[in-house]
Amino acid sequence: MPVLVSELPMESAERPSVSIVTLGCKVNQSESDAYAQRFNDAGFALVPAEEPADVCVINTCTVTNVGDQKSRQVIQRLHRANPDALLAVTGCYAAVAPQQVESLTGADVVAGLAQKDELVALVSQRLAERGVRVPPRRWQSEQRDQSDSSLIRAVPRTRLNVKVQDGCNDFCTYCIVPFARGRARSVPAEDVIRQIRRAEEEGYQEVVLTGVNMTTYGAESGTSFGALLEGILNATSVKRLRLSSIEPFKFDPAWLDLWSSERLCRHLHLPLQSGCDATLLRMRRRYDSCAYGELIAKIRSRIPDMAVWTDVIAGFPGETEQEFERSLTFIEAMRFAGIHVFRFSPRSGTRAANMPGRVPERIRKERSERLLSLSQQGKRAFAARLVGTTASVLWEDTQGGLTDNYVRVRANGIPNTLGSVLITGLAEDGAEGVATHD
Ligand code: SF4
Repeated sequence: MPVLVSELPMESAERPSVSIVTLGCKVNQSESDAYAQRFNDAGFALVPAEEPADVCVINTCTVTNVGDQKSRQVIQRLHRANPDALLAVTGCYAAVAPQQVESLTGADVVAGLAQKDELVALVSQRLAERGVRVPPRRWQSEQRDQSDSSLIRAVPRTRLNVKVQDGCNDFCTYCIVPFARGRARSVPAEDVIRQIRRAEEEGYQEVVLTGVNMTTYGAESGTSFGALLEGILNATSVKRLRLSSIEPFKFDPAWLDLWSSERLCRHLHLPLQSGCDATLLRMRRRYDSCAYGELIAKIRSRIPDMAVWTDVIAGFPGETEQEFERSLTFIEAMRFAGIHVFRFSPRSGTRAANMPGRVPERIRKERSERLLSLSQQGKRAFAARLVGTTASVLWEDTQGGLTDNYVRVRANGIPNTLGSVLITGLAEDGAEGVATHD
């Protein structure tokens, strides 16, 4: 059972407290999870995001100019609410514009690309300059019995994000990530397996593998993402293994054999971005709609109940009415189980920011609304397929949780346990059912 941060023992108050606020994608979330563990293991007490703390860590996003702006707003808001706290800023915005972060936000520590692994040490050093010892003497002695080094205390959820890969070499024209995170590199398989075993021991039921471009895993050492997945399935017994977003163009259909394991969640998030080939070319995506459609057909012929989700950008520069309609027709035909819709927003430093044919905001908004409505229909249609069947649910709270193929189910159960639910109907955000206690 997860232990909530608010349930931490009283003596933890003697440790310097740290709150972590995360903006942006699942990779950032997995890095924040890792920071939480490292701060916890180093003797800090975790408090919920945005609560008053001795140290506020902000893990920023820079995916669009709006991402930068939001990151600055969060930093400034936290600074106003906690004027005495030490502000530590990391993540992609800190990597791309460290000087801007420092001058515009008054951050005490800015840990960009090269320093992010040293975040805890940098923060501890700045605290020491303020006369705060980390870890406190009393906690150090208690640490011996390991009672406070629990991972699940640091990250109190049912699933843990584990980063297996970082960086990207592909340079899609709208994307700043290769500049913010550098070249593609992989976390050694033994480190990934060690983290997953620890998660298992701590009671997590599900691990989500994250990476910026996971299909490139192992390219530098001649191994592959499929080999990593197989290694994890063989060397761990975590109940559920889920993949976060994974690029379609290097997804090897041979990996689908691995889904013979029921532990691998039937859920793939394959970013399409557009269903129109001319738009895809301008985005510098390395597939056309035909290749993408063939991949989806292969997946569905092997694993019919795979939930396929995607990302789509609405109003990419030069997207004419015909291009958008072509894209929409293709997206409709793909019958996605859900779509994350991003209204195009130029990111300075990318090629797309200077492309001609900027689509007016009103039209970008209209297009994103049409895509969102398609997403709603897709979610409903996918959930409807479950009605009358029995599904395995991982409860996130007493009211419900998720199936492996990512349908939210409303049913009463015990948090952080897996159980069977008879799906009786649709709910606003998924399905509803009755636990069968088998
Ligand atoms: S594959 Fe394209 S969208 Fe994905 S991180 Fe690399 S550059 Fe960005």
